[in-house]
Formats: sequence, C-alpha cells, structure tokens
Amino acid sequence: HADAAMYHAKASGRNNYQFFTQTMNQAAAHHFELESSLRGALARYEFELFYQPIIDIDTRQVHTLEVLLRWRRGGHGLVQPDAFIPIMEESGLIVPVGEWVMRKACEQSVAWQRQGLKPVPLAVNLSPRQFMHKGLIESIRRILDETGIDPALIEFEITETALMQHGEQTLGILGQINRMGIRLSIDDFGTGYSSLAYLKRFPVKKVKIDRAFIKDLENSAEDRAIVAAIIALSNSLQLSVVAEGVESEGQYKLLKGSGCQYAQGFLFSQPVEVQDVTRALAA
Ligand code: C2E
Ligand code: MG
Ligand code: MG
Ligand code: MG
Repeated sequence: HADAAMYHAKASGRNNYQFFTQTMNQAAAHHFELESSLRGALARYEFELFYQPIIDIDTRQVHTLEVLLRWRRGGHGLVQPDAFIPIMEESGLIVPVGEWVMRKACEQSVAWQRQGLKPVPLAVNLSPRQFMHKGLIESIRRILDETGIDPALIEFEITETALMQHGEQTLGILGQINRMGIRLSIDDFGTGYSSLAYLKRFPVKKVKIDRAFIKDLENSAEDRAIVAAIIALSNSLQLSVVAEGVESEGQYKLLKGSGCQYAQGFLFSQPVEVQDVTRALAA
C-alpha cells in the first residue's frame, strides 16, 4: 500500500506528498524497530508456545492441541502473532523461529509423556516461507531424531494459499513429510481459490474451515450452505473437517448437525499457556 499512497500523494500535490511520506516514514520506522527487536528475541528466550484444544464434536473431548506462538516482548507484554509473524515471514526470520517452535513442541510432548500424561497430538503451523525452505525436510528429520517423538503425535497445518503457490514442488515436499509419518492438514480453508477436488491430490487428512465462514453461521444461510458443502465434499473424499473460531453453542449445534467432526474456538477454550495444559492433562 506504500505504492498506492505514493500514487495518491503525487496525484494530489506537494502538501499531501509530504503528509504521505511522513506517515510512510513512521510506518517504516515502526516496522524496522519491530524487526530488529525480533532478531534478538530468539536468543533472549522471548518466544513462548500457547496451546488451544481442537475438540471432538461428539464427545467434546480434546483431540489435538494447536501450537500457537507468542512473543513476550521486553517492555511490551505478550504480543500476538498477527503483529509479528508477517514481519518474520518477510525477513526470513520465520525459518529459524519456526524450527524452534517445532523443536519446542516436540520436546514438550515428550516431557508430558515422561510425566505419564495421556499423549495428545500437537498441530504445528508451517508458513509458506518455511514450507519452501530447502532445509525443511532435513530439520524435521533432525528434530524427530533428537527428541525421540512419535511422528504420529505431530501434525502440520499449511494454509491453502501456501499449498497453491508452488505447484508440483509442493506435492514432493508433502509426500516426504507424509512418509515420515507426520499428518498434514489444510489451514484457513475457503479463503483461497482452490477446490477440494484439486487438493485431494495432496496427501492431506484434514481440512480446517476458516473462521470467516463460522462467524455468521447462525444468521447467514449462505455461510451455512458453504460450510455444509465443504463438510459433505470433504467427508466423501475421506478428509475430516475442523471448524475454526467456534464461539457459541448455536454454531456448535449447527456444525454437529452438519456432520463436522472437530471444532476449535473460544467456546471450548482460548489458547492457554503450558502450565494450564499440564494441569488439564493431569486432571
Ligand atoms: P491459525 O493457524 O489459523 O490459528 C488460529 C487462530 O485463531 C489463533 O490466533 C487462535 O487464537 C484464533 N482463534 C481460535 N479460536 C478462536 C475464536 O473462537 N475466535 C477468534 N476470534 N479467534 C480464534 P493466533 O494465535 O493469534 O494466531 C494467528 C495466526 O498466526 C495463526 O492462524 C497462524 O497462521 C499464525 N501462527 C501462530 N503461531 C504460529 C507458528 O508457530 N508458526 C507459524 N508459521 N505461524 C503461526
Ligand atoms: Mg493453524
Ligand atoms: Mg486457521
Ligand atoms: Mg489464520
């Protein structure tokens, strides 16, 4: 949007031009400050993993825990991913940080098992940049080896858009991950431009319907039709379905009635810190 701002500014004269460059400079300065602060965050141990349950719709029991990154930034409190993941994605920092997330999640899973707690699969997000990084397969292999985690307890979430970006290469990488025994799911489904029939070529087991379609489920007949269609087609293709962003009992009942298998959202739990999970697993 910097280009668009520049265009408008030039079109409407010198004063506006100054205004826009000032705003852009502020935005750039903010971005630069965030980025340089992020560069040291890993070394300063400022990242933390939060966990949010994905529940089985029939039993309301925890089925999987999604791993969600948080940044405990010195002097700023807890920073949510939308404020920093895009910057890491752009700068490439997401590659080492994403590797840290994967390792930390595997170590945590093994630690819970050592404490005698019931193993719950963890779902780790993989960004487009991580997904296309040459070292990805090697680093997954190393992490599996070094932590000793059972790969069946790990799942990767990749967005529909990331999968669509790289054509045939994608199929190869997904195949390698799949052969390591790690399950794959498609995140934020419905926001991109692909069809389920196309995605069926990928070795994917699960589809997560984007929150945007769940939000107005109770009031929008269109959204109900879209969600019902995604669930029906997914199930007929042997894919299970997770609804994201479930916040009300009404949404939950509609999803249950449509044959959706899993749900995630504030109705069941917010993302919580590790101690809360340990306590819940022990209870
Ligand atoms: P996502 O993978 O789609 O994760 C689900 C997001 O929806 C999480 O936001 C979660 O807190 C939020 N959410 C869950 N239930 C509800 C609900 O009922 N209502 C609403 N309004 N929101 C709900 P979060 O934790 O802020 O993460 C945002 C995004 O950042 C994630 O979207 C994911 O794309 C990215 N992300 C988070 N952690 C990582 C990571 O470790 N690596 C990578 N590459 N990306 C990550
Ligand atoms: Mg996700
Ligand atoms: Mg999602
Ligand atoms: Mg998302």
